[in-house]
Amino acid sequence: MRFSKLRLTGFKSFVDPTDLIIADGLTGVVGPNGCGKSNLLEALRWVMGENRPTTMRGSGMEDVIFAGAATRPARNFAEVSLQIDNAERLAPAGFNDSDTLDIIRRITRDVGSAYKVNAKDVRARDVQMLFADASTGAHSPALVGQGRISELINAKPKARRRILEEAAGISGLYQRRHEAELKLKGAETNLLRVDDVIEQLA
Ligand code: ATP
Repeated sequence: MRFSKLRLTGFKSFVDPTDLIIADGLTGVVGPNGCGKSNLLEALRWVMGENRPTTMRGSGMEDVIFAGAATRPARNFAEVSLQIDNAERLAPAGFNDSDTLDIIRRITRDVGSAYKVNAKDVRARDVQMLFADASTGAHSPALVGQGRISELINAKPKARRRILEEAAGISGLYQRRHEAELKLKGAETNLLRVDDVIEQLA
């Protein structure tokens, strides 16, 4: 699985549709301060399911929508699409039946986020799991923002372990375990209620 193209529309400073082609080898992005370099990395995090506004340098999720400029009105939605080359069929199960994966996230004011994979509606969780199983994702240690290096060096052992687990591609399993535990807890509560009802009937 290789990222091949990132397209931003109405996302932060990228008001007009903008394509970033990610070629083989190293891709560098250079430009003056404030031209939007960090916004590109945030777009990548966001399309992979990031839901913490602080990581997106905003106070609310809708802050990613182009907020307007002196000569341009604000937009009503933001969309990021990520094209993945899956010719080698390395995508996780369930997403592995085509040579290209097109992942789209769109946020509309007062409506919220919607996700699509190859034009099919999916849940945020499906996209997050897709990337977690592929050893990457919005929280991947491979995405290193400004000021993050010293944070990683000073990280506590537990946080370091998370980084290693993500690199090993098992963070998706942790999420699934957490969900299974919640279901188990729900089932136990239901059983207790059934016991109560049986007791009342006896
Ligand atoms: P530096 O090199 O200083 O870190 P940079 O190239 O990484 O800069 P970014 O931080 O990615 O630049 O971009 C910041 C720019 O994005 C600012 O001009 C800011 O006004 C603009 N911006 C951020 N959010 C929005 C938004 N919702 N609508 C419009 N513009 C936005």
